[in-house]
Amino acid sequence: MSKLLKPVLPGSYLGILGGGQLGRMFTHAAQAMGFKVCVLDPDPSSPTGQVADQHIQANYDDLVALKKMAAICQSVSTEFENVPAKTLDDLEALGVYVAPTSSGVSIAQNRVAEKEFLKTWQKEAGIGPAPYCVIESVSDLNKVPESLFPGILKTARMGYDGKGQVTVHHPHELSQAWNGFGQVVCVLEKRMNLAFEVSALVARGHDDEVLAYPVAQNVHKNGILHTTTVPAPSLSATQEEKIIGAAKEIIRRLNYVGVLCVEFFVLDGGEIVANEIAPRPHNSGHYTQNACITSQFEQQVRAMARLPLGSTELVKPSIMLNLLGDEWFVNGQVSEPAWQEVLKLTPAKLHLYGKSEPRKGRKMGHINFVGQSDEVQMACEKSIQVLNIAR
Ligand code: ADP
Ligand code: MG
Repeated sequence: MSKLLKPVLPGSYLGILGGGQLGRMFTHAAQAMGFKVCVLDPDPSSPTGQVADQHIQANYDDLVALKKMAAICQSVSTEFENVPAKTLDDLEALGVYVAPTSSGVSIAQNRVAEKEFLKTWQKEAGIGPAPYCVIESVSDLNKVPESLFPGILKTARMGYDGKGQVTVHHPHELSQAWNGFGQVVCVLEKRMNLAFEVSALVARGHDDEVLAYPVAQNVHKNGILHTTTVPAPSLSATQEEKIIGAAKEIIRRLNYVGVLCVEFFVLDGGEIVANEIAPRPHNSGHYTQNACITSQFEQQVRAMARLPLGSTELVKPSIMLNLLGDEWFVNGQVSEPAWQEVLKLTPAKLHLYGKSEPRKGRKMGHINFVGQSDEVQMACEKSIQVLNIAR
């Protein structure tokens, strides 16, 4: 057996690129299994830096820092979607097992590459992207088919939580919208009539084993995820099977080791389109922490350590409610929300990310409600009420 295929065992260091909440929850999962964690993030007080065993405080392109990380860690993964491909390649060249590698991550980082990928494998996956075209130059503006309007103009890079996108109702508004983004490369996508939104979380091990979690149904408010419900209440069994099949095909075609999330739209007529790929655990997969046998973060640990993947079985129905900085503001003043009112509720499991400064729209934590569907629904509604969540 090749040397590469031996597992990285507990007691060793795992590395994580990016120090946000996803890295923090990854670190908790890794440490619970006896691993040590080294995080690379320029921020001196990042959520992950607070809990990791070592924090290399440097930029992602700092070769000295990458060499230090490579000397400590046998295996590195990423929690930060926009980590430069070169960082992953440099670490690989330094002899580190990098999972996922830059080829998979860079496709998900660029909407043009992502949509092309989804279109290329549409037949095999059984689901493709919404109709779109690429806008790279002024001349492209006149080539856009009328059928794409009303559309959504999205920057190819760096979009998240609804940022970097704008609705364009008519062809004559397009050039102004594109100028508004500084004429960077964009895709114009047809605005679809969504019945609801779902996401599929899948994991692939180094040995090509692929497992899927149950499909989750998502509600966004102001472009930010608000709740995730599992099992997805509006999805038929046939649709779920089709979506899981597509997500598994996607992770294999990307030759991707790790945890990956694919967002899908279910349209009014029942048709399904693939929206985007996140090359890491995802906000809509947080419910797995309390509702599944293996959380998405433990799965990330297992995949990067070349250990067997864990069961993705859902033990009980669940709703995840995101907590934004808005919840900390009462009459313009910052105060700690009344967690005691939430924690009274039997199904509630509170997760906070250790961010000291609440800001409106900033993800501060989430609550996973786990239990019987009706109990979970009631506890979520009650929490929205006691926390004054008005979205
Ligand atoms: P982000 O990277 O911000 O998550 P998305 O492409 O997922 O960007 O878009 C954010 C949200 O905007 C989606 O979850 C969906 O609600 C809405 N949206 C995006 N694209 C479309 C579309 N083509 N048609 C209808 N709604 C869309
Ligand atoms: Mg999205």
